[in-house]
Amino acid sequence: MTAAPRDPRIIIIGAGVAGITAAHTFTQAGFTKLTILEKGSDVGGVWHWNRYPGLTCDVPSQIYQFGFAPKPDWSHMWASGSEIQQYHRDVLERFGLDRYLRLNAEVVAAEYESADGGQQWRVRLADGEELEADFVICATGVLHHPSIPDIPGLESFSGEVVHTARWDDSVQTRGKRIAVLGTGSTGVQVVSALQREAAHISHFVRSPQWILWAPMTLRQPRLVAELLRRAPRAHDAVHQGLLAFSGVLADVVLRPTWRRRAVQEYARQSLRAQVRDPKLRTQLTPDYQPLCKRQVVSGTYYRAIQRPNAALVTDEIVEVTPTGITTADGRHHELDLIVLATGFAAHNYMRPMHVVGRDGITLDDAWVKGPKAYRMTAIPGFPNLFTVLGPNSPTGSISLQYSAERTSKYLLHWLRKFADGSVSAVEVTEEATDEFNAGVIDAMAPTVWNTGCNSWYLNEDNTVDLWPYDRATLATMLSVPDPRDYRITR
Ligand SMILES: Cc1cc2nc3c(=O)[nH]c(=O)nc-3n(C[C@H](O)[C@H](O)[C@H](O)COP(=O)(O)OP(=O)(O)OC[C@H]3O[C@@H](n4cnc5c(N)ncnc54)[C@H](O)[C@@H]3O)c2cc1C
Repeated sequence: MTAAPRDPRIIIIGAGVAGITAAHTFTQAGFTKLTILEKGSDVGGVWHWNRYPGLTCDVPSQIYQFGFAPKPDWSHMWASGSEIQQYHRDVLERFGLDRYLRLNAEVVAAEYESADGGQQWRVRLADGEELEADFVICATGVLHHPSIPDIPGLESFSGEVVHTARWDDSVQTRGKRIAVLGTGSTGVQVVSALQREAAHISHFVRSPQWILWAPMTLRQPRLVAELLRRAPRAHDAVHQGLLAFSGVLADVVLRPTWRRRAVQEYARQSLRAQVRDPKLRTQLTPDYQPLCKRQVVSGTYYRAIQRPNAALVTDEIVEVTPTGITTADGRHHELDLIVLATGFAAHNYMRPMHVVGRDGITLDDAWVKGPKAYRMTAIPGFPNLFTVLGPNSPTGSISLQYSAERTSKYLLHWLRKFADGSVSAVEVTEEATDEFNAGVIDAMAPTVWNTGCNSWYLNEDNTVDLWPYDRATLATMLSVPDPRDYRITR
């Protein structure tokens, strides 16, 4: 890019996959007045905040990487959380993005100021410092705020209580009597890991999940890493091949074809083949279709839950007492440690930041019925503010790195228009946003997420907050912005 007549001041909030992708895309295009504000003490987003035992990627690592930063030498086919976080640190350093980064910088408010002389965003940090920006990019993560269950007596427990998303490394697990609450990927991973060292582990399950078997502890052979390192083209082909294959998997969730039925049958077989006891198998059988919730993948869970020191508890939790958990059957489970693998308040996305857009409209008002955006990125009433991996991001179908990259490249269009002086503010229209969201609801009809299970994918109004289209549609929708969908101030 040639020297920009006015280089936009850009603030990116969050240094996870989305923030790093946006920063890389913008700097590669020549935009360098950039600040990445990250409230955590390190980068990596979920891979920084989640450090519980057993954390691994649930998709093959050769997919879960930035297209611009291929990594041939993952130690495992499904890498551990710590290895993924190290990768994020390395990428920041390798591309010189760390020079724009401010850690321990929590944004508490962002306000759009518009006056005769122009307009800008004023961003306030928790310590009171204020920064100004022409563009604000929210990359704050959908799965960020831990959800704490409202169980009577939880605070009275005399042992330790830890949420998996805020793991405390000082917590001792060896030889302890442990309860794990929650059955998503995290619950399954943490039970598999802790069972090996616990005196006893009880997995409290309100609604079991389908668990696809995969050899997730498989090491990536050194020879493969060496070959991929020496032959970047072959590595790229592997990456692209896996992305294409994941496109087939996306088809499985998007359309009710024989492929979906085959994967669903595989999920049922995964359970049948690994759990022989009919009573336990019944307890582990969900009452909804496989793939309806975020799919859990594990090669170890069913084995772990059948070990002598493990128990599945399906009776409802009545209360927590100082010594343990009492269930509806009257039983009291004596415990030393309660692990909450109870997920996230996904619809708190971008909050508790106080975001005020044009004419005093707040994000809380705009999103009273849950987060909604135009093509995952633009919100009416909030000029020059965009999200990356925002509402409707394709969790569970398309690579998130790919989606973040497409969104960031799409936003380059407006940054360039700002830089050449042809646009000073841009805001998506209500009509375009409503039309997009109506399309999403229609397109969601044949997806498996819409087959009647209760999951964090659902909004307050019961619509599914995911991406119902394939990768090609995503690329088309995020190619070049349609000016008719935006209100433009020159
Ligand atoms: C435990 C776990 C495992 C997962 N495993 C997989 C997987 O295997 N495969 C997969 O495809 N997806 C997985 N995901 C989904 C995951 O959310 C995405 O893959 C991706 O990491 C999301 O990146 P992000 O940048 O959008 O959000 P995040 O990674 O959440 O990053 C957002 C960042 O914004 C920061 N932030 C938030 N608010 C503020 C603020 N006010 N001020 C400053 N900074 C702020 C946060 O501290 C955080 O660092 C997993 C999620 C979790 C929670």
